[in-house]
Formats: sequence, structure tokens, C-alpha cells
Amino acid sequence: MSHSTKKKILIVDDSKINIDILIELLDDKYELLVSLSGRRALEILNSEDVDLILLDILMPDMSGYDVCKVLKTQEKTKSTPVIFITANSDEESIDLAYESGGIDYVTKPFKALELLARIKTQLNMQDLFNDLEESHNQLKLLASQDHMTKLYNRRYFSEISTTILELAIRHQKPLSLMMIDIDKFKKINDTYGHHIGDIVIISLANTLKELSRKSDVVCRFGGEEFLILLPETDIVGADSIAEKIRKSVEETLVDIEEEQRLKYTISTGISEVKIKEETNLEETIQRADEALYKAKEGGRNRVCKA
Ligand code: GH3
Ligand code: MG
Ligand code: MG
Repeated sequence: MSHSTKKKILIVDDSKINIDILIELLDDKYELLVSLSGRRALEILNSEDVDLILLDILMPDMSGYDVCKVLKTQEKTKSTPVIFITANSDEESIDLAYESGGIDYVTKPFKALELLARIKTQLNMQDLFNDLEESHNQLKLLASQDHMTKLYNRRYFSEISTTILELAIRHQKPLSLMMIDIDKFKKINDTYGHHIGDIVIISLANTLKELSRKSDVVCRFGGEEFLILLPETDIVGADSIAEKIRKSVEETLVDIEEEQRLKYTISTGISEVKIKEETNLEETIQRADEALYKAKEGGRNRVCKA
């Protein structure tokens, strides 16, 4: 959320007079929505995104406590800060307010500047929290991604493959692996330079992304070696996808310099997980690797099954 646009606050109070006082106080700083009842507030929050809620406790149809409890169970509103504004100042009421999920509590009659300061504090904290969450997600993505190709890295593969294997075993669904290695890549590097080698790797990564399905996990496993995990795919299915990729690569002309294009090929080894025997993917990877070796031995630019 942008920090510069006006924040949106929902005021919930059954008294028109109280609402008018709050509008007077907040109108020039914030975008305001108002509701005269708890139920209406919940309806509004179904369709509107707000940054903060000012909530009265004593209301005829539904108490502020109950409104807050509902909000805290809903994905869309559970982290929206709720400040209670109420005439009740006894300890039990305050306790209940925090227990139902409120983040702050202001008693009526309130001091205008104090309320403004408290609202500002909560909105700032919310911004900080959102930034933190964003950085966290960014870091998580970076930690799972290969920088050069934007494919998943080996670390992520190890993590996710355990879960995918468990699912395949539980649902008795086939699961296959594809190990891909660029043919005579050293020669590409030696002839055109390391930089062009990188361009070829990126080109292959893009082809793999294009031709794989959403559920496939496409990884850069090492230098010019790639691994694809194919859920709900048996060896026959894996073979046809691998063949499609092989053909597409064979037909690809990689732009390297003005007027210069380069052709390259790949070799692929495929294996299907033996769901009844294999409890981790190491053996499956091993078999795909052996199949890849066969493909190289057999003359390259081909797919071999384990
Ligand atoms: P083969 O057909 O048997 O696979 O022959 P190859 O020349 O491809 O042999 P190999 O797979 O052993 O060679 C991989 C080479 O890839 C060695 C390494 O210098 C190069 N390489 C590894 N990572 C990178 C990279 O990120 N960029 C570039 N340009 N080259 C890399
Ligand atoms: Mg290699
Ligand atoms: Mg190679």
C-alpha cells in the first residue's frame, strides 16, 4: 500500500452525534466511511478495504466486541487495527476489548489530540508491518530463486520436492523427473565466450518455463544442468514433454550478436518415481542422471528413459 494516499478509516458508532464529532476531527486527514451498526460495518468491510476501524462497544444490534471477534476470524480483516472508543472505562470492559482483538482503547469523552496520535501510531505500525512482510516475502523469493535464470534453485527444489513426493504417495499419483544438460557446452563457451554461454543458459531456462505446466517445478540444478519435477505425470507423459522441449531447443536460434545466431541442443534423462518403493527422490534423481548419461553416450540431442 502506498504511504502517500489518504488512509481509509471506518467509524462504527450507533450515535449520530458521536459520528459527527469524529468526522469533524478526522475528515481532512483521512478518507472516512461510517456505519451506525455492527452488522452494517461487517457488510461494508466485505466489499471495502480499510486501514483502521474505530469501534464503539455498546450498540443495539451487535456489540463492538462481537464485531471485532468476527473481524479477527476473517482473512481480509484479521490484521486491520481496531481501536475501541467507548464510554465504558471499567477494567473488565477494557480487558474484553483486548481479548476480542482490539489493538487500542480510548474512553469517551476523548481528548482530540490524543485520539489523533493514537490513530497515527497504529497506522504507522501497520505500514511498518506491511513493509516487513513485503521484505520477508522478497527474501524468501530470493532465497529460492536462481538469480541468472529466475528459475528455482537447488535449495528450493530440495525443500518442495519432499512435499510433492508426500502428496504423490498419499494420493497414489505418478511423479516424474527430468534431468536436462546442454550438449557440448564447453565448446560454446570456448568459441563465443562465457557471456554468450550465459545467454544460452537463459534462453534454455525461458524455453523450459514456456513449455512446462504451472504445477511443474523447474530448477536450475547446476551450471548448465536443469531439473524438472513433474507431478501427476508418468514416464510416458514425461517422455512426450521432454521430446517437445528437445525439439523446441533444436529449432531455437539464439540471438548472440548482430546478425549472429547460435544453435544448440540438449540431452535429457527421465525417470518416474517408484511410488511403492522410493521414500525420497535421491534414487529417482540418480536414475534420471544415469538416463542422461545414456543420452549423451547415444549421441546427444535425445531423450532417454531410466
Ligand atoms: P556434454 O555434452 O557432455 O554435456 O559436454 P559439455 O561440454 O556440456 O560438458 P559439461 O556438461 O561437463 O560442461 C559444463 C560446462 O559448463 C563447464 C562449465 O565451465 C560451464 N558452465 C557452468 N556454469 C556456467 C555458467 O553459469 N555460465 C557459463 N557460461 N558456463 C558455465
Ligand atoms: Mg553438465
Ligand atoms: Mg553439458
